[in-house]
Amino acid sequence: MGDMEDVESFRLRARAWLKENMPRVPERHGPPESGDDDQEWLRARELQKMLYAGGFAGICFPAEYGGLGLTPAHQRAFTEESRGYEMPLLLNVPTFSICAPTILDMGSEQQKRDRVSAAVRGDEVLVQFLSEPRGGSDLAGVITRATRDGDVWVLNGAKTWSTSAYAADYALCLARTDWDAPKHRGLTMFLVKVHQPGITLRRIKMVNGSTEFCEEFFDDVILPADSVVGEVNGGWAVASRQLVHERTAVGGGSPYVSGEGRANLHGPEYDFADLARRTGQTGDVAVRELIGEARMMRRVQEQLIDRVMSGLNSGQLPPPAASIIRLFHAETDWKNADIGVRIGGADVAAGAFGDHGGLDYGHYYLSRQGASLGGGSTEMSRNIISERILGMPREYAADRDVPFNQVSQGRT
Ligand SMILES: Cc1cc2nc3c(=O)[nH]c(=O)nc-3n(C[C@H](O)[C@H](O)[C@H](O)COP(=O)(O)OP(=O)(O)OC[C@H]3O[C@@H](n4cnc5c(N)ncnc54)[C@H](O)[C@@H]3O)c2cc1C
Repeated sequence: MGDMEDVESFRLRARAWLKENMPRVPERHGPPESGDDDQEWLRARELQKMLYAGGFAGICFPAEYGGLGLTPAHQRAFTEESRGYEMPLLLNVPTFSICAPTILDMGSEQQKRDRVSAAVRGDEVLVQFLSEPRGGSDLAGVITRATRDGDVWVLNGAKTWSTSAYAADYALCLARTDWDAPKHRGLTMFLVKVHQPGITLRRIKMVNGSTEFCEEFFDDVILPADSVVGEVNGGWAVASRQLVHERTAVGGGSPYVSGEGRANLHGPEYDFADLARRTGQTGDVAVRELIGEARMMRRVQEQLIDRVMSGLNSGQLPPPAASIIRLFHAETDWKNADIGVRIGGADVAAGAFGDHGGLDYGHYYLSRQGASLGGGSTEMSRNIISERILGMPREYAADRDVPFNQVSQGRT
């Protein structure tokens, strides 16, 4: 800690470097990146390589894995300075905020050296293969199977809703490895090469036209023994860490993200005052109240993130508390989508504000449910808050402690 650069000198260095090296985002730029375009991914990798070459990549990642080993305060300072510059925002979720920290916490030394360093250098993108066609909330109920065959594992099954898997190199994939054990105890987490024989990847078209989400089918995919993350049959511990990072990321509290912005979250930037100006409603009291409400929510969200993150970092709050900011994110996102439509009125459907503007709010509104599902649904967040923070009774589970091969599946 002794010779760590102080935050203010880091900030000044970052300011000078950004000015010198990073391209500025044009004043009136388009909608946020959709995450379904090859060029956007190439650009994100390129920008990450620029950060790496300049010595500003992976600010909170340990130096031995390619990062700078600095504190969240250094990251915050850099993020503030980076406003207005192009940043590799697509890499923030899930690569930097979810997958890389999970590997740091639970992976082998080699996995950290290989995967975390490659991500920090801008060479690799990571994704999550968790949800399955049968359901994502019951994560411990996954039925994708990995079977040991001599030195390797053989993976069969299917995953879905994997954000931007098509553009990724490796996935953290949860699979069942012991069917005689109760559901939480027969799982193993694997690091899986996304593009390899036996994996068929299809893109899913969403209501807003995006094809960012993918589904994957595994037919006898061969995984080397060293692809296991953590312990064989200890995958639930890895998944639990991953979910904490995911809730923190979705809630807006991850220290591992560089740069700010709404990339990958499908929403326009919420400049409701600008929307009101463009629609000639700045004098309308009801519209002004909506703008005030949105600003108030934003302030409360910022304060809540600070409070929960400092509680988590100091150990005053238990890891499930990440669900509080995750839940508040969904509430804020819904509210913003609604406010956009209420201020924009019919124009949000007709796209009357040029290429980007009204229509963006319309698209955003159509897919606003995403904020209540991605990173675990809000119902599950409420369950976690009630059971694990407030100490209310656990939900009944018919499959608790029952060997998984004796649990009735689906309607049978
Ligand atoms: C933007 C976005 C990004 C995503 N990215 C990924 C990704 O990268 N990788 C990945 O693997 N998955 C991803 N997902 C999938 C996501 O994790 C799942 O959608 C989520 O876990 C919910 O699962 P489900 O959709 O199968 O709903 P289900 O589990 O079928 O649930 C349906 C409804 O029932 C409710 N419900 C279910 N069980 C309970 C319960 N016990 N108590 C109360 N209510 C309950 C749910 O909350 C929900 O409202 C993403 C989803 C979105 C929207």
